[in-house]
Amino acid sequence: MAAPHRLRVARLAAPRAAPQAQSLFTALAPYASLPQRSRGRRMAEAVASDRNAFQRDRDRIVHSTAFRRLVYKTQVFLNHEGDLFRTRLTHSLEVAQLARSMARGLGLHEDLVEALALAHDLGHTPFGHAGQDALNACMQPYGGFEHNLQSLRVVDVLEQRYPQFDGLNLSFETREGILKHCSMRVARHMESLEPAGVAHRFVAGYQASLEAQLCNLADEIAYNAHDVDDGVRSGLISLEQLMGLTLVRHFHDEAVREYPSLPGMGRRRLLSEVLRRMLSAQVHDLLRTTKARVARAGAADAWQARQGPALVGFSPSMRAAITELKRFLLRALYRHEQVLVQTQRGKTVVHELFTVYAQRPVEMPPEYAQRADTHRAVADYVAGMTDRFAMREHERLTGRRLFA
Ligand code: MG
Repeated sequence: MAAPHRLRVARLAAPRAAPQAQSLFTALAPYASLPQRSRGRRMAEAVASDRNAFQRDRDRIVHSTAFRRLVYKTQVFLNHEGDLFRTRLTHSLEVAQLARSMARGLGLHEDLVEALALAHDLGHTPFGHAGQDALNACMQPYGGFEHNLQSLRVVDVLEQRYPQFDGLNLSFETREGILKHCSMRVARHMESLEPAGVAHRFVAGYQASLEAQLCNLADEIAYNAHDVDDGVRSGLISLEQLMGLTLVRHFHDEAVREYPSLPGMGRRRLLSEVLRRMLSAQVHDLLRTTKARVARAGAADAWQARQGPALVGFSPSMRAAITELKRFLLRALYRHEQVLVQTQRGKTVVHELFTVYAQRPVEMPPEYAQRADTHRAVADYVAGMTDRFAMREHERLTGRRLFA
């Protein structure tokens, strides 16, 4: 572990002209993904005169049903546990904010980054990772369940809003970025259906676009910070525990040096200031590290930037500090007894819903009940549910109420 004082907080390079003369708009870098070079949509559509392809993708995502459902899906704490905890919707907005701001600093395409950030959790089941694990277990005999793949299914197939096609008919680059991970088995299968398609990089071994790499890290920066915030708010973790972590201790001490009266102004304000500094430090570290790596790689365009190792990343000392924080959150929060009780209930709800619908598909709406691939239809239906709808359906079908 690097000593705390070695965590350097970079400032953006000072502009040569006076600050007020500096443009807020950074030109696109040569390695940015360009909508005019898009590999297009699965169903050809006329180009819009007033929006580029990635803007259009972003707009379609915002108007989708799956996007609205994110407001009632769990991040860590269940929606009904408190009004101030993050949900998947507010999480996705925080990811979009961080990703867009970093994209601008790197000259990457902000519209693509925003579309990816807003879509990245669309395939998440109710009850967070517990729901996904339960659904994956239920689906083992029928091809399994992966939430990244489900996000792609949502935008490719499950949304039904357009007369010409199922799904949102997004551009290739957005679809490819949404498929963050997938197993090799699934990648090979997808390649057979869509050769040189969105899963090709897993088979051929090249990186995601820089925009997609950036979104993954924006996701990580966002949840590490807001899980600390929500964890303290819930009372499950304390500031004292957090002071054992390099990042927290460093920025706590820095903030208190700068504002000696801060500790007397309430814990919430103190924690917010520490988290704000942690976010900035990670953002600036990522910008500095990525710019140096990109310069070394000398990539002439977006495609060249995807060969070789991933270029978007943190410095080794920041990565080590983030890893320490993640380990702490896993141990102290995600595996906290009170969280485990709730996640176990969530698993039970998903498992029992799956069993009932598989036996009596008629309990589902006709568009799912009438499908020939019954088990996949059940998985699609259950995965789309919000936490509260899943709880209500579970009570209706089993007569038991698992959540107060
Ligand atoms: Mg996320």
